[in-house]
Amino acid sequence: MIKWQEEVFRLIDDSRRIFTAEADRHSYAYDASFGYFVPEMVVQPISTAEVVHIVKLANLYKIPLYPRGQGSCLSGGPLPVRGGIVLDLTRMDQKLELYPEDLVAVVSPGVKTADIKNEALKHGLFYPPDPSSAHVSTIGGNVAENSGGPRGLKYGVTRDYVLGLEVVTPEGKVIRTGGRTIKNVTGYDLTKLLVGSEGTLGVITEISLRLIPKPPASMSLMAVFDRLVDSGKSISAILSSGILPAAMEIMDQACIQAVEQYKPGGYPVDAEAILLVELDGHPRAIEDEMKQVEKICQDLGAREVKVARSEREKQRLWQARKLVSPAIARIKPTKISEDATVPRSRIPDMFQRLMEIRRKYNLQLVVFGHAGDGNLHPNLLVDKRDEDEMRRAEEAITEIFEAAIELGGTLSGEHGIGTMKAPYMERELGVDGVEMMKRIKQAWDPNNIMNPGKIFPEPGVTKLVLR
Ligand SMILES: Cc1cc2nc3c(=O)[nH]c(=O)nc-3n(C[C@H](O)[C@H](O)[C@H](O)COP(=O)(O)OP(=O)(O)OC[C@H]3O[C@@H](n4cnc5c(N)ncnc54)[C@H](O)[C@@H]3O)c2cc1C
Repeated sequence: MIKWQEEVFRLIDDSRRIFTAEADRHSYAYDASFGYFVPEMVVQPISTAEVVHIVKLANLYKIPLYPRGQGSCLSGGPLPVRGGIVLDLTRMDQKLELYPEDLVAVVSPGVKTADIKNEALKHGLFYPPDPSSAHVSTIGGNVAENSGGPRGLKYGVTRDYVLGLEVVTPEGKVIRTGGRTIKNVTGYDLTKLLVGSEGTLGVITEISLRLIPKPPASMSLMAVFDRLVDSGKSISAILSSGILPAAMEIMDQACIQAVEQYKPGGYPVDAEAILLVELDGHPRAIEDEMKQVEKICQDLGAREVKVARSEREKQRLWQARKLVSPAIARIKPTKISEDATVPRSRIPDMFQRLMEIRRKYNLQLVVFGHAGDGNLHPNLLVDKRDEDEMRRAEEAITEIFEAAIELGGTLSGEHGIGTMKAPYMERELGVDGVEMMKRIKQAWDPNNIMNPGKIFPEPGVTKLVLR
């Protein structure tokens, strides 16, 4: 065993939380995206003090350090691309404290997001960010990725709920950013910088979150469209009518068919698109707004509009959307999930471009997503053993990103950059924009130990390589 590894055993008093065996290390070689990289060691800290020990050691020996939550990342964020240590933070899940009078929660990074939501509900409070992975992903991972979800439209994303952080810097110092007040304008906003920094600026060891009062009621509607483009027009019309839905989700025909095959629920497999709309607020207000949404969809060509009249009906409507990911994963062995995002008014154009890309590269490309905030999820369903198909997928992905940027959008609405989108960063931010970010990284992490190989393009690499 080499010296730095011996030192890890000396610093962490329970060797059962250190993994060096090959089989264990392979368990940390992947996430929910693409690529396989085996770390040299895995450590599961249980306290900030232990994180400090490991970070200082890594900084001294210049060992790459890869923070990791539950590995549900869709952009390669926690992958140990340069070996080194994976810091598995899932054991740091001790603290889930609620302060209802302040509308604040203080949590450890390894706490699962759904547990925070459930705990808040017990006090009549609401934690709105709701990634579909909330039952598995950690709040630390959500903060590092600035995760979103269907409610981004009305309630924003994780960043909008993080009031303060405790962070171990790459040099092993413990800093606190922000605090527990809604207003805080003291100095640079390091909290906002750290949220979405994908583990490249430090290890998040505690998070203070803003909660809001739980909306008193909610209603859901499903509209079925024979033409995808009509569903896009309905999205724009609902948003410009003055109604702000809590969520507005879209599924294309391929998704509807996959869900119906996976778990038959009587969904309309011949329709080109389904739109799901959730309104929340005062019961009388949303009853009235729902009538308007119903009429907009009908006027713009929906062949069927169904408003859920019971909790059971509501669950059934949303089940279709919840099952999309597992259902489409059965179409082909490799699922590449993208999250190109465009301004809301350009959603119909983006759909058009995606359909062209599907035809041009003859690929199984399905689309669903958070239509209300322009955050679409084009998913490519391929087989990684098929060289030619993977080559076409690489080119299609490049075109998807180019289309999003050309339409005034962004590479990522919620999945982050990681390894998967790093080659495209300069196309969105320009050389100088990326350079400014690199300077920030250099100032925080002079030895480049924190999650190296992520976000920033490797010299000469201009496109994603999947083969
Ligand atoms: C089926 C499915 C559905 C999904 N739905 C959504 C969705 O609706 N919205 C959405 O935004 N995302 C979604 N995701 C993506 C993913 O769940 C999120 O990015 C999530 O936040 C990752 O959390 P994690 O705990 O799994 O983190 P990981 O995947 O382990 O890590 C993610 C990143 O965070 C860093 N990191 C983790 N913990 C820390 C820490 N304590 N300190 C510093 N850095 C840290 C890692 O280095 C890595 O860069 C989905 C994923 C799947 C598989």
